[in-house]
Amino acid sequence: MAKVTIDGKTLTVAENTTILQAAKLLKIPIPTLCHHPKLTPFGGCRRCIVEIKGMPRPVTSCTTPVSDGMEVSTSTPYIESLRKTVLELILSDHPNDCMTCEQAGNCSLQDLAYEYGIRDNRFGGERRVYETRDGNPFIERDLEKCIMCGRCVKVCDEVQGVEAIDFGYRGFMSKICTSFEQDLECEFCGQCVSVCPTGALTGKLWIRKGRRGGQMETDTTCPYCGTGCNVTAHVKDNDILKITSREKTWNEGWLCVKGRFGYRFVQSPERLKKPMIKRNGAFEEVSWDEALDHVARRLSEIKEKHGADSLGGLSSARCTNEENYAFQKFIRAGIGTNNVDHCARL
Ligand code: SF4
Ligand code: SF4
Ligand code: SF4
Repeated sequence: MAKVTIDGKTLTVAENTTILQAAKLLKIPIPTLCHHPKLTPFGGCRRCIVEIKGMPRPVTSCTTPVSDGMEVSTSTPYIESLRKTVLELILSDHPNDCMTCEQAGNCSLQDLAYEYGIRDNRFGGERRVYETRDGNPFIERDLEKCIMCGRCVKVCDEVQGVEAIDFGYRGFMSKICTSFEQDLECEFCGQCVSVCPTGALTGKLWIRKGRRGGQMETDTTCPYCGTGCNVTAHVKDNDILKITSREKTWNEGWLCVKGRFGYRFVQSPERLKKPMIKRNGAFEEVSWDEALDHVARRLSEIKEKHGADSLGGLSSARCTNEENYAFQKFIRAGIGTNNVDHCARL
């Protein structure tokens, strides 16, 4: 164990605890940009620098473990002036696009620029200009807004295990790209979009559909499979604009391509909303009572004429465990046959 003092408050923690984690336990805020609690520390953005008594230079608190007797200062005038300079450097080749950017109002960089009151920039000069080439249907990449925090690279590797993207090139021309800069071809889970702190990565489906301010957020369960990931539907004018997932859910905010991007079916005009019965070769919309009476009558007729084993039931992975349990009970106890199976075995 190590006894550490941060801004005058003392705490005893395990020795491999980072200064950032210890400060969080003491409820002392340290600003970060590249840090994400579910990913390994990177120390790339230099926002979380702190001073340690007896050390000649500031260190990044997300990558520095505490040691016994350490005394840390998180917000001295010197540290704040360095943080402001680092922020100015990050913003020096960043497009002033907040007025049209999808992320405005929900952007960590914009929040920091506001907090530090940065309008003019001492370091203005050459700008990075990237050709956008995104043939994929899901993710828009605007690399001019990328701050090279590396969260997307880490989540793709450490959470999704895909390694579709990485840092490419060197120095000023560094950028996040695929191998040999080919088009993105991956699982399209969108984890990278969800952890990007700026507008560099956006879901194509929700571009220009509305900013967060005017949206109602409803927590619900993904309808696609029995895993039941928790999702949040962002709704405006009775239309789902976007699906996200909160960090504090059992699925930890991670989703698959279906859960994150496969929601347009809800508004599809082709969606079946009422039961139908086929009569004389054509489907007719009917009430639920009529449809259920029809099914019950036909099942009884078939069972009476051909026996219970002439019937079978096939249920769905998109139902909950409870629904699947009730379904097999109905087939076994209600109909009287063990001919019951599940689409996941096909
Ligand atoms: S990424 Fe953030 S700071 Fe950059 S233009 Fe968009 S909202 Fe503004
Ligand atoms: S969508 Fe998923 S698999 Fe594709 S690059 Fe992003 S994190 Fe990696
Ligand atoms: S694309 Fe976003 S998450 Fe990836 S490095 Fe750039 S700013 Fe960070």
